[in-house]
Amino acid sequence: MSQPECLFCSLVAEGEHVRRADGFVAIRDINPKAPVHLLVLPERHVESFREVGELSAEEAKRMLEFVAETAREAGLADYRVVVNVGRGAGQTVLHLHWHVLGGSGLGGFE
Ligand code: AMP
Ligand code: ZN
Repeated sequence: MSQPECLFCSLVAEGEHVRRADGFVAIRDINPKAPVHLLVLPERHVESFREVGELSAEEAKRMLEFVAETAREAGLADYRVVVNVGRGAGQTVLHLHWHVLGGSGLGGFE
């Protein structure tokens, strides 16, 4: 369930949602790295992608569909989906989230 000190749990409760359905929300990244930069997160607290097994098979499928639908609704045909897993890989908020990046000038993958 929600963690009192977790930034994304509070944004689930009271943030500005681009989209919300089926236990998932999409928000705008506060520091966009591309013309379109959205974050998709489960409403309930899961620390990182490492713990993806805490979601049921049905929830995991819905999460992937939610990511694809969020990109489609944002008008993106081509886009990049990134998940940073753990602090060593750049995860700064320990609540599972998917970066959806799109728009012109996305560039190569570095
Ligand atoms: P990560 O580094 O993968 O954990 O991604 C965390 C992302 O959350 C970063 O891209 C931040 O810019 C973004 N972020 C941090 N605080 C907020 C906030 N209050 N609202 C929206 N996005 C945020
Ligand atoms: Zn959380």
